[in-house]
Amino acid sequence: MFRVTLSHLILIYMAVLLGILCFAWLVGEVIRFRQDNRKRRSMVVCDICGHSFEDPSERELLTCPSCGRLNERGKVREI
Ligand SMILES: [Zn+2]
Repeated sequence: MFRVTLSHLILIYMAVLLGILCFAWLVGEVIRFRQDNRKRRSMVVCDICGHSFEDPSERELLTCPSCGRLNERGKVREI
């Protein structure tokens, strides 16, 4: 058996704790990215009136609930 000093034990503990925190942060970021991507995909902005609405379906042509015009699903511009 090899000898471990208290300072090495604390160092190993801190490294393991830091690794767990980094892993939890990474998993949280991946989940948040997927949720944002899904939300962005379902968001549609009308070309005529500018009304924004959500439609979770996968249809490419959507009717605007405000003006009734058909809109093509596309990317929502970032502000
Ligand atoms: Zn509209």
